[in-house]
Amino acid sequence: MAFISHSVGERGANPAADVNIIQTALNYYTRPPMRLLPVNGVADQSLFDRIRDFQATFMNQPDGRIDPRGTSVQRLWPVRYANPTGRAIRGADAFGAGHFNAPRGGRRHDGVDYIATPNQAVAAPMSGKVVRITRPYPTGIDANVLSGLEIHASDGSSCQIWYISPNTNLVGTLVHAGDKIGTARTLQIRYPPRPTPSRNAGVMTDHVHVRIHDRNNRPVDPSTVIPRAIAIPLP
Ligand SMILES: [Zn+2]
Repeated sequence: MAFISHSVGERGANPAADVNIIQTALNYYTRPPMRLLPVNGVADQSLFDRIRDFQATFMNQPDGRIDPRGTSVQRLWPVRYANPTGRAIRGADAFGAGHFNAPRGGRRHDGVDYIATPNQAVAAPMSGKVVRITRPYPTGIDANVLSGLEIHASDGSSCQIWYISPNTNLVGTLVHAGDKIGTARTLQIRYPPRPTPSRNAGVMTDHVHVRIHDRNNRPVDPSTVIPRAIAIPLP
């Protein structure tokens, strides 16, 4: 489920799924009079030539092969980040706070929550390949409503974004950070407002949850890589 799981190109393993991804990524750089590569999973001379041409833009000795997590694949689909909602990080509310490592009962918050307005467009927080739909809650009325996506980057890191309604047919495709990937959902059904006079009265701020793990599956604080919300200057 990685961005590519095996080498692609000359003397590469060339499984069709990985060849497809590299053909798609190379086509992103194709400008006339160059012709688009067929995206057919077939590793042939035209693919090898195109890999060498691409490598020649940054390597002295192109080898025509793209390895998982290597320099070439990271040049081909660079790891970039974007704020998924354009909003700030969720501050403390009646249910908790949205920063990395915030307390969650006996656990710690593995990720950062970005404030969202239900039904607003949500952008990919990280560039990479969409590898699967995730379900933050396996059961209950919102198991199918509060959904998410997992993205794997070319350097082996991974990102999950939750509480969205993903666009259709994204699994298996490449995205750039900032591409629209779905719409935000309300959390008020899963987490109904607590009435006064309960001790923790109040509402949960609607948000999307972003989790990033490095190539060794260690948690990363997303706020160290995702741009802050840009304040809109007053007229
Ligand atoms: Zn969260």
